[in-house]
Amino acid sequence: MIKYILKCDKNHEFESWFSNSAEFEKLCKKKLLECIYCSSRSITKSIMSPMINGTKKSNMDLINLNENFKKERDSLKQLRKYIENNFEFVGKDFSRKVREIYYDKNTKKTIYGTTTEEERAELQEEGIELLSIPWVNKDN
Ligand SMILES: [Zn+2]
Repeated sequence: MIKYILKCDKNHEFESWFSNSAEFEKLCKKKLLECIYCSSRSITKSIMSPMINGTKKSNMDLINLNENFKKERDSLKQLRKYIENNFEFVGKDFSRKVREIYYDKNTKKTIYGTTTEEERAELQEEGIELLSIPWVNKDN
């Protein structure tokens, strides 16, 4: 089972379980996914690089940035730049580093990196908050 964070066109976010990513794609294509708040059928999955932040406030800032930027590709590049300038990149070590930070309450590090869907699901089960943003390629 995979848990995805889904989002409708009115920016409602909710979690949903799928047996695998193919099932999600299938349901999404057939418009069988529905927002639990407003019943919108325009549902997207939060793809990409999850992040964590030590403080709620910064998390909110990022969520707001994410909201503002996600419509435009150019803005997404700016968001990417912002994250690259303000966050420590840990790459594939993300899920391990995130746990270190999460369980050490004195650490207020902000990191970003990549996880597999399995790692991500595990982190969510442990109650570790992650934020995903669309990660655009700078070079095209
Ligand atoms: Zn909605």
